[in-house]
Amino acid sequence: MSQTTTTNASGSTGAEPALLEISGVHKTYFMEGVTVRALRGVDLTVRRGEFVAIMGASGSGKSTLMNILGCLDRPSSGTYRVLGRDTRDMAPDDLAALRREHFGFIFQRYHLLSDLTAAGNVETPAIYLGRPPAERRAEAKKLLARLGLKDRAGHTPNQLSGGQQQRVSIARALINGGDVILADEPTGALDTTTGEEVMGILRQLNAEGRTIIIVTHDMHVAEHADRIIEIRDGVIVSDTRKAGVSLAVIDDKPHAALTQGAASWRDRFNEAFRMALRAMRAHKLRTFLTMLGIIIGIAAVVSVVALGEGSRKQVLANISALGTNTIDVRPGTGFGDRRASATRTLTVADADAIAQQSYVDSVTPTVSTSATLRRGNVETSATVNGVGDQYFRVRGMQLVSGSLISAESVSTLSQDVVIDPNTRDTLFADGTDPIGQVILVGQMPARVVGVAKSASSGFGADQLNVYAPYTSVMRRLLGQSYLRGITVRVSDNASMDAAQAGITTLLASRHGTTDFYLNNTDEIRQSIEQTTGTLTLLIASIAVISLIVGGIGVMNIMLVSVTERVKEIGVRMAVGARQGDIMQQFLIEAVLVCMIGGALGVGLALSFGVIFPLFNSSFVLDYSLASIVMAFACSTAIGVAFGFLPARSASKLDPIEALARE
Ligand code: ADP
Ligand code: MG
Repeated sequence: MSQTTTTNASGSTGAEPALLEISGVHKTYFMEGVTVRALRGVDLTVRRGEFVAIMGASGSGKSTLMNILGCLDRPSSGTYRVLGRDTRDMAPDDLAALRREHFGFIFQRYHLLSDLTAAGNVETPAIYLGRPPAERRAEAKKLLARLGLKDRAGHTPNQLSGGQQQRVSIARALINGGDVILADEPTGALDTTTGEEVMGILRQLNAEGRTIIIVTHDMHVAEHADRIIEIRDGVIVSDTRKAGVSLAVIDDKPHAALTQGAASWRDRFNEAFRMALRAMRAHKLRTFLTMLGIIIGIAAVVSVVALGEGSRKQVLANISALGTNTIDVRPGTGFGDRRASATRTLTVADADAIAQQSYVDSVTPTVSTSATLRRGNVETSATVNGVGDQYFRVRGMQLVSGSLISAESVSTLSQDVVIDPNTRDTLFADGTDPIGQVILVGQMPARVVGVAKSASSGFGADQLNVYAPYTSVMRRLLGQSYLRGITVRVSDNASMDAAQAGITTLLASRHGTTDFYLNNTDEIRQSIEQTTGTLTLLIASIAVISLIVGGIGVMNIMLVSVTERVKEIGVRMAVGARQGDIMQQFLIEAVLVCMIGGALGVGLALSFGVIFPLFNSSFVLDYSLASIVMAFACSTAIGVAFGFLPARSASKLDPIEALARE
């Protein structure tokens, strides 16, 4: 508890510097070309324990003087010393330190933070001072109880009357000790009785040794003070002390246990964190809409990368299932040649010629078309592959039941077909053995001779395939005499390069020109890797753009949030928040929005992985931890990057201007 000693009002304290000392202070405002000289050479000394009333008409400069006394504002010229320390060259944070350690403010309009309870408001200055949470909570309760607000600690300002709010703000002024209490028109918004009560409280606080300075235009209010200073047009015109007043002096008690360094920082961080959460909760919809940009951006990046990776892996798996020793001969000049379908030079004779070569294990001409399959009243569409008898060997397909297309059916243009298990399950869902049954392939009746399945499953696994002699498909279904391709399986002991060179030379001499190209599976693999890589990169960069747009959304909202809460920032600064504290609060909010958005985005992307296969099994999403971590880091970085500007602009606000904002 503080010790109180008493000295005589006229008795000088000798060597001790005056508590507050203003000399030759001018304050000039420039506004839209008009110069307002609010203070014009003010000299004023206030000693410890005084109860001073500053009186004057409206516009005489009272508030201006008060704000300078409270280190909320600086003089345009002249000096102001607090406990002998010149404030002229102090940094904003040093002034904030003076405010939270020595001054307690009481405003005409209370200036309580509307999101906080009474207790929360009272605690705020102690957070910035660094008092441990339990201690400051207990102290806030004690002060509220003392001011008759025991039952109101949990109420928010809008649940309190004006008089109650003003008492909360008095408690707030006291929590850090309140050596000097500055009250600007503290009774201005209160009725006479309540005003008298507030003045009574201030009187009592003065009796305990606190220095009280009030600003008022009301003589009745001023009469509570021991010293009345009258100000007119920015100049002090009279300064009278009541006779025989003795000053109670409160000992400068250092705060017993302030948390220091890291602990203090952590505590303030926690508070800022809670503050940010509270702000986000207070504006749920706006917060969510802001997040939406980040959610969509992150979900897009993560799932696009996963989709790219998934399809790449699947395609590669399919290719390696084809074996690495096959070569596809195709008409045209290369992969993606749009006139390839007009090139009709690849013929069955070419396939026969290739089959003669020593390095060839097996060869099959291929044509394909799509057709409707019918059996009874079941109808479905399928890919009809026109194949040679060696096709199944070339492709490494396995016979499930029945027999394969024979060389004889090829030469006789037979109407035999081999079907794959999908087709069997579709057409013969009734469980009939398909072998020997007749189905309609387009307009051609065909007999099912066997069921064969391909070595690879996966990509396109849900498609229906039937295999018929290529001769039949060409003549009976397509009416064409050229091939869509020739697939060659190279002997195990022959080299792929030699085979490729051999086929190229052979066909070039047969055609007289190179109107075909060869694909071996290895090349396909490479080109697929390349294409999917490029595609993924392209789509991912589009997704990144959406992320950036989301980030700009965050910045926008933060700017709005700062503008909306300028007053709150002013109050926090008045009670001693550092620039860093304000910055931290807004930065945390931005980062939180982005991180939560990021987490939801990752969740959304992962749920795509669950939902997609339900509709279309050919999409495979392969999530990589790296892309998730990157996305998360990205959203955090966006929070920092786009939150920084608004947060900094908040921290650079001038406390007086901020407080004046409505
Ligand atoms: P009081 O509190 O005594 O009513 P103030 O100290 O608020 O008076 O204002 C003194 C003078 O300075 C007034 O003429 C007022 O219009 C002017 N003034 C105060 N603040 C500003 C400001 N931020 N910009 C421009 N003029 C101001
Ligand atoms: Mg005023």
